Amino acid sequence: LGRHRDDRRLSGFTYNGVEFSQDNLNVFAGLCAVDVPEHVEILMQALEDNGQVCTRMGAYKPRTNPYSFQGHGKGCLPWVFEKAGKHGIKVIAMEITHESHIEEIDTCLEKLGRPTGVMLQVGTRNTQNFELLKAIGRQNTYPVLLKRGFGITLNESLNAAEYLASEGNAHVVFCLRGMKTEAGQPHRNMVDFAHVPTVKRLTRMPVCIDPSHSVGSRDQAPDGILDVMHATAQGVIAGANMVLVDFHPKPEKALVDGPQALLMHELPAYLEDIRLCHDTW
Ligand code: PEP
Repeated sequence: LGRHRDDRRLSGFTYNGVEFSQDNLNVFAGLCAVDVPEHVEILMQALEDNGQVCTRMGAYKPRTNPYSFQGHGKGCLPWVFEKAGKHGIKVIAMEITHESHIEEIDTCLEKLGRPTGVMLQVGTRNTQNFELLKAIGRQNTYPVLLKRGFGITLNESLNAAEYLASEGNAHVVFCLRGMKTEAGQPHRNMVDFAHVPTVKRLTRMPVCIDPSHSVGSRDQAPDGILDVMHATAQGVIAGANMVLVDFHPKPEKALVDGPQALLMHELPAYLEDIRLCHDTW
């Protein structure tokens, strides 16, 4: 994946009609965790109304507390994929936590006639789950969104991307999502979007930012702008190629990470802000 490896030079890839490269930008606004069909419907309708063809939808949720909601798993896949197809969503970023989830997703998509596509997300807790990386790397059907490990060096996270490529799957987007520092001060994680150009310099992977999991709240600056929006602007101006961001029609009812979700009525302005920042490139 690296610029230092002539034999694996990449310039991005196209998946299900969507281009991923270091020269363009895709927004994946969506639910941190799939909860009820009504919320998925509202979200996808809003995306369609705003010309969006990508989203994020968490079905398999890695949780710190074993008693917290773990996601609906494969049970929600049929209706999530059907709704995606209905609203013209071409790519869903969906985290998997076990290699068996690849087959669950594939079987469901096949059965439905592939109404949408899936980008397999490796979460920050699994960045060094080498057996999972190897399993994902062995398949070429689905591209991968690899989160940076929140407590390891950048180089170690880039090596995780090499695990995917060395097994044969080089369709990888690398995601910055903040680093752990002293418990939640002041953001949930230390925003690391200054590393967008660094990763672009060191590799040919498109770089994603996840302002929601970096900031982790709806805190706002004295100018009234949400920290999530400031962080997004910083990342996009720095050259991010993808934005993974949590929205929810009713954050108070969200089963995971409601406090950091943006509201549906904020979507148009959020997308416009991103467009303006992207225009500075
Ligand atoms: C997520 O994107 O849903 C998530 C859990 O992110 P991370 O792995 O970065 O914590």
